Amino acid sequence: MPAMIIDGKAIAEKVRSEVRVRAEAFAKRVGRKPGLEVILVGEDPASQVYVRNKESAAEKAGLRGAVHRLDGETSEAVLLAKVRELNGRDDVDGILVQLPVPKHIDPLAIVDALDWKKDVDGLTPHNAGLLWVGRKGLRPCTPFGSMRLLDECGAKLDGARAIVVGRSNLVGKPIAAMLLERNATVVLAHSKTVDLDERVREADIVIAAVGRAEIIRGAWIKEGATVIDVGINRGVDGKLIGDVEFKAAAERARAITPVPGGVGPMTIAMLLSNTVDAAEARAL
Ligand code: NDP
Repeated sequence: MPAMIIDGKAIAEKVRSEVRVRAEAFAKRVGRKPGLEVILVGEDPASQVYVRNKESAAEKAGLRGAVHRLDGETSEAVLLAKVRELNGRDDVDGILVQLPVPKHIDPLAIVDALDWKKDVDGLTPHNAGLLWVGRKGLRPCTPFGSMRLLDECGAKLDGARAIVVGRSNLVGKPIAAMLLERNATVVLAHSKTVDLDERVREADIVIAAVGRAEIIRGAWIKEGATVIDVGINRGVDGKLIGDVEFKAAAERARAITPVPGGVGPMTIAMLLSNTVDAAEARAL
C-alpha cells in the first residue's frame, strides 16, 4: 500500500487556526494581543523573507507582530541592549533573533541574554534543560512541529523504536528528548555512527535531520515505518529535496513527509503557538 503523505501545509493551517482562537481569548481576557518581536540584523535576503513571513503570519493569527531591522554593522552591545529592552517590556511575550547574525556577533551571547520565558524559539539552555528534565518550557519550533506531525498521522510512539539522524541543538537533540518523553526507545545518530543503515532498518520512526540530500536510502526503511524528513537540500536540478530518498521510502513507509510541504510549514506555525503559550504563562 502506498504511504500516507503527511500534509504539513494542512496541519500547519490547523495549528494556526487553534492559535487564532487562543489569541482572541487571550486578548479578551488580558486586554492586548500576544506580542511577538523579531530582530533582524543585516540584509541577508533569505532572512529578510523569513522575517517578513513571520510578521505577516503573526498578524494573520491574531498576534501583534513587530520587526526590528538593525543594520549589518550593529555591534553586539547594541543588539544585547535591544534584547534586554524587549525582555523588560510587558507587552512583549516572544522574542526571536533571526539567525545567523553577522560574524562579529556571538550568537551564544545573544541567546544567553534572552529572557527564557520569552524564548519562543526554545534555544536558551534553560528551555533546553527543562525539556531534558521533563518539565514545562518553550520548545524549539521545528522539533515541536515534527512531533505534532507524528501525532497527526497517528504514529504510535509508546514503546516504538525511533532513530533521529542528526544531533544538532536546534533539531536532532530536542526531537530525541521529545520522543523519549513520549516513551519511544531512541537512537540518536550522527556523522560518526557506524552501520547507520542497520540502525535505520530497525526503526519504526525515522527522523532525518542531517542536511544531505537523500542520505537515508528508501531500501533502509522498515515496512510500515513513519518517516519525518526535516532536511532541506537543493537537488542537482535546483529543486528542494529532503534527506530521505522519498519515492523509494514511500513504497515501504506507512506515512512520510514530503519536502517541501512537510516539516517546513510547521516551523512558523509552532512559533505562533509558542508565542501564545508564552503569553498565557506570563499572564497567569
Ligand atoms: P546541522 O548541520 O547543525 O547538524 C547536522 C547533523 O547531521 C549533525 O549532528 C551531524 O553529525 C549529522 N550528520 C552529518 N553527516 C552525517 C552522516 N553522514 N551521517 C549521519 N549524520 C550526519 O544541521 P541542522 O540540525 O541545523 O539541520 C539539519 C537539516 O534540517 C538541514 O537540512 C536544515 O536545512 C534542515 N532544517 C529544516 C528546518 C525546517 O523548518 N524544515 C529547520 C531547521 C533545519 P555531527 O554532529 O557528528 O557533525
